Amino acid sequence: MTEHEVLIAGGGPTGMMLGAELTLAGVDAAIVEPSATRDREGGSRAGGLHSRTIEVFDMRGIADRFLSQGQTAQVVRFANASLDISDFPTRHPYGLALFQNRTERIMADWLDELHVKFYRGREVTGFVQNDSGVDVTLSDGETMRAQYLVGCDGARSVVRKTAGIDFVGSDPTMSWLIAEVQMSEEPAWGFRETPTGFHAIGRGDNGVVRLALTDPVLKTGKPTLRDLSETLIAIYGSDFGVNSPNWLSRFNDATRQAVAYRDRRVLLAGDAAHIHPPLGGQGLNIGVQDAVNLGWKLAQVVRRISPENLLDTYHAERHPIAARVLKNTMAQVATRRTDDRTKALGEVISEVVSMDGPRKQLAAEMSGLGVHYDFGEGHPLLGRRMPDLDLITPGGPRRVFSLLHDARPVLLNFGGLAAFDITPWADRVQSFDAKYDGKWELPAIGAVAAPTGVLIRPDGYVAWVGEGKEARLADALTTWFGPPA
Ligand SMILES: Cc1cc2nc3c(=O)[nH]c(=O)nc-3n(C[C@H](O)[C@H](O)[C@H](O)COP(=O)(O)OP(=O)(O)OC[C@H]3O[C@@H](n4cnc5c(N)ncnc54)[C@H](O)[C@@H]3O)c2cc1C
Repeated sequence: MTEHEVLIAGGGPTGMMLGAELTLAGVDAAIVEPSATRDREGGSRAGGLHSRTIEVFDMRGIADRFLSQGQTAQVVRFANASLDISDFPTRHPYGLALFQNRTERIMADWLDELHVKFYRGREVTGFVQNDSGVDVTLSDGETMRAQYLVGCDGARSVVRKTAGIDFVGSDPTMSWLIAEVQMSEEPAWGFRETPTGFHAIGRGDNGVVRLALTDPVLKTGKPTLRDLSETLIAIYGSDFGVNSPNWLSRFNDATRQAVAYRDRRVLLAGDAAHIHPPLGGQGLNIGVQDAVNLGWKLAQVVRRISPENLLDTYHAERHPIAARVLKNTMAQVATRRTDDRTKALGEVISEVVSMDGPRKQLAAEMSGLGVHYDFGEGHPLLGRRMPDLDLITPGGPRRVFSLLHDARPVLLNFGGLAAFDITPWADRVQSFDAKYDGKWELPAIGAVAAPTGVLIRPDGYVAWVGEGKEARLADALTTWFGPPA
């Protein structure tokens, strides 16, 4: 029987990120993906990346690959307001316009370099788990064995359903038809508003026309070219000679979240764990960030560095983040209705969120830069993302993010840890003496006191902050990176 330490169901952005993170951490992980080729159908859904996702790729040394293929822009929007983050203290105070198929191609190339194993053209059909592992059945009849199975298999997740994890939330109220097609006549480019909703026609690569049309009434099921033609005529009075669809699909505003991200040896991430309408463009981003939160924890449990209960922090940290995204997308759907009163409400909300304080709060949340995991009381850095500072180390100038390329924890000593002996954790945690003379600033929070040391998890979040003494550093190292050797 084929065995892997971790099997990942689904090779979308979430599954690929998790495959990379586990591989970087030295775990034997493999991805099972139904699509026989790297360019899967519907791969151009998401229009881009938010700032924190660009930072995550920067922490792994691959941000330039994405930046060189897309267009940086202010992409955070709520209702009708554009929330500018160009004054945020990050190396990437913008988002990136880059279609999902391109993002996935760059990720797939990276996974090839890391030699992540893919089983293509098969899907997970079920599994049975016991205390020692999971037997995973595939559509070709083969059974594979793994210590852990992670469902990154999208909204209709077989893994989630087989595990019997409830997916609770709201049923759809509206639907949208999306397509990539050819048109023999010049279409009405740009946005249009009608009593049934907002519609958009835009230019894709190589003369392809991209459409997102609000269905006049809630519809389900895969649309046909004829449905598309009829919807275009109802909105624009013409179907502009629509033909040769590359891809036709429909999405709706169903909003649901898995009640648990883990059932013993089975975990969920990405769309398998949460779905919401794409307003605000956050789904792919939080899926990638789920994977980065889970990867190092799962690796430490598999490698017996940490006890299994480290995995419980994955649900505890990531479930509230997606719950907030679900809430802001539901609110955005409500402001998209086109009756006069809802439009007035949308305008008032847009004015409010454009004010400086609300803009910073909401933009920090939607860009992912404001994520705050609850590690208890303490310095504002605790549980927040470590800024990418320009450090001076004994080995020369280094950016903080460059120290995280291998996805290993980092202890930075700014002079306050003279007597601390890192030796019992030195096999897991990299330690650097560093100097930093600039301002310490966090998005939406502003300036914070300079710490004397920080312990940074592989996902870039600060697990311990030194404030002049070494109190609790050994506890923090043990909590996050296992007992002393
Ligand atoms: C119109 C539209 C626009 C969007 N715009 C944005 C945006 O601008 N920004 C943004 O961040 N997000 C956006 N999203 C959301 C984004 O596309 C998803 O959140 C993202 O694709 C989720 O990634 P994932 O890897 O979790 O799941 P998916 O991308 O759904 O990948 C799941 C994978 O699992 C595979 N799979 C399915 N069943 C099985 C099985 N049984 N066994 C093994 N594998 C299986 C599938 O083939 C697929 O490859 C948009 C979505 C839509 C519909």
